[in-house]
Parts: sequence; C-alpha cells; structure tokens
Amino acid sequence: MLASRPLTNKTVLERYMKLAVPDNKFQATYIWVDGTGENLRSKTRTINFVPTNPKDLPIWNYDGSSTGQAQGSNSDVYLYPVAIYRDPFTQGNNKLVLCETYNHMKVPTETNHRWTCLEAMKKAAEQHPWFGAEQEYTFMDVDNHPLGWPKNGYPGPQGSYHCAVGANKVYGRDVVEAHYKACLYSGINIFGSNAETMPAQWEYQIGPNEGISLSDDLWISRFLLHRVAEDFNVVVSLDPKPITGDWNGAGLHFNFSTEAMRAPGGIDEIETAIDKLSKVHMKHIKTYSPNEGMDNVRRLTGSHETSYMYSFSSGVANRAVSIRIPRMVAEERKGYLEDRRPASNAEPYVVSEMLVRTICLDKNEQ
Ligand code: ADP
Ligand code: MN
Ligand code: MN
Ligand code: MN
Repeated sequence: MLASRPLTNKTVLERYMKLAVPDNKFQATYIWVDGTGENLRSKTRTINFVPTNPKDLPIWNYDGSSTGQAQGSNSDVYLYPVAIYRDPFTQGNNKLVLCETYNHMKVPTETNHRWTCLEAMKKAAEQHPWFGAEQEYTFMDVDNHPLGWPKNGYPGPQGSYHCAVGANKVYGRDVVEAHYKACLYSGINIFGSNAETMPAQWEYQIGPNEGISLSDDLWISRFLLHRVAEDFNVVVSLDPKPITGDWNGAGLHFNFSTEAMRAPGGIDEIETAIDKLSKVHMKHIKTYSPNEGMDNVRRLTGSHETSYMYSFSSGVANRAVSIRIPRMVAEERKGYLEDRRPASNAEPYVVSEMLVRTICLDKNEQ
C-alpha cells in the first residue's frame, strides 16, 4: 500500500516543462494494454517529425516479461502504432500513440483484442455501426479507501449523490474536470460526464463513434483518467463492485445503433437486434468482464440498477434489464439500444466486436 506516496512540487515542475526544446524534436508516448487485459502501460521516445499517420511511426518494443506478456528468456514484445492523439501533458506537437501488441513471432498477444475487432468492423462497415460507451469508475485514496469516505465508517446512504453538487455530496470533482478537458484536448470524442449514485463514483461517456474508433478513444480516455488522477494523488478503480453492500457497482453500458436503426421506423431493427441478443445471452456475459465474465457476478445481482446475470431481459426506460430502449427512442421509433451488462473493467474491443458479430453479421461470418 502506498499510504505515504512522496509528493513533488508541481510549480517547480512547470519551470522545466516550459524549457525551449529543439524545434525538430518531439515526444511520442506509446500506450498499450498489458498482460492483465485491464491495465495500461506507456513509454516515451523522441521522434524528429510530427506524425499524422500511425504508419509513419516506428514499430517499437518493450520488455514483455515485466508486463505479464512474455517469458524472460524471450521477452521482446512489439508495439504497432494504430492511433495518434494530442498529448495534453506535454502539449505542443507531442503525441500519445495507441499501440497493438505482437509477440516475437509477430502474432497478436493474448490481450491484443483489437485486430479481431477491426476485422468484424470492416465486415459490418456498410451498416455504419455506432457505439457510445458510459465509463463508470470510483476514485480511491492512495490507501485504497474510497475518496472522501470516513476512514472508519460509511457515508450516508445512497440517494443524494447522483449528479449532485456540494462538498458533502461529491468527491474528486477537480480530477473529473481536468480529465474532461484533457479528453477534449487530445481529440477524444467525449460526450459528457456526471457524478454517480455512490459517493466518489463518477461516469463519463464516449461517442457516438463509428466502428473501431470508439474503443480506441475509450482506451486512451482511461489512460488519461489514470494519468490525470496521478497528478492529484488520487487512484482510479475500474472494479465493477468496489464496495460490497448497499452501494452501486460500476458498469460500461454500451449504446449501439446501425444506420437502419437510426432511420425512420428503425425501432423494428432494434427489436430484431434485441431478439438476436436474447439468444446468445451467456456468450456475451462471458466476454463482458474479465475472468470469463465472472468479475460481473458481484455487480449483476438484479439490484442497484442492474439485471440478474443469468437471465436476459429488455424493456423501455427500465434500468433493471439487460437491454434498455431509452424512452426517447421508443417515442421517436428510431435510434439505439443500450446494453447495460458490460462491467466497468470490460474490454471495449471485445464488447463492440460481440455486438457487431451478433447483430450485424450472418451466422457464417460470426
Ligand atoms: P444513460 O441515460 O444510460 O445514463 P448517457 O447519457 O450517460 O445515457 O449516455 C448515452 C450514450 O449514448 C452516449 O455515450 C452517447 O454517445 C450514446 N449514443 C447516443 N446516440 C447514439 C446512437 N445513435 N448510437 C449509439 N450510441 C449513441
Ligand atoms: Mn449514463
Ligand atoms: Mn451511470
Ligand atoms: Mn446507461
């Protein structure tokens, strides 16, 4: 536990951040998902041009034996740049570079789920699948206790915290505001944010984005969240049920539509999609959180605005179901559906791939 994490002086840091550096030298921070499938790693290199296409950036490597992705005796894992974002920390022409990971045989590592997702998105491209993800998470103090909670007890019961304002109701807003701006700066399609039902729990949304870019944006937004919180000496937990008892868990609701669903009368397409989803419920559940879906057991209880993990349900404006049709969508008879099952620590490439394969692709293409 890092109860006494050494703090540095950010004002002193500013002096160095303002130093004039050679105008043909830029920093590129390569970012990737590690062997846990949930955590991110990064390392930085100098480049002598301003990259606009990920293909122009050098393939790089790292010590996979230290990230749970390779044996020590054959430790190099390759980083293939796939998306470029502006770097809100060093700014200027410096970049954040999202990467896929490949082992020494140039085979995708076990936690590289992007390439199969991309394959599915290409096959479904004509249907123009859009995704919007709602990332819920919890702020922790460095001692892993929820931020702002009494150290020897609990805050008052849930009911007054959701979308709340006031020093006795929300904890960590500075981090939320800083993260929102960092996302906008970076070029991430952030849609909104709100305080959640449990104190110290928050949400932001990404999207709607077409195809693979939703998950690219979401992974970088998670990196920014951890990195911004680090500046405030706060820890971010993506655990789907950080506190047991009468406290809401955290999800990654996935909102989904195709062009046909967004067109007049698209509600029929939405109903057809829900029917398809109902037939493969457990197949989806198994991929909607780590540990073959079992991380979600603690969250999908049927209480606290969730549905029971082992049964499929759907409904208009109902938050205790697997799939919700938002009220506005039912009224307008077109729009999108919301899959409420994915856990906060779900892998967005996997979830979006599952949705597209089940809803958009024929059986033989799935
Ligand atoms: P909720 O009422 O479930 O809390 P939010 O307002 O938090 O909903 O999030 C709505 C999400 O739906 C956003 O991520 C947004 O990008 C997404 N969204 C909106 N329209 C569409 C659409 N047509 N297709 C897919 N996603 C969409
Ligand atoms: Mn929401
Ligand atoms: Mn929410
Ligand atoms: Mn939602």
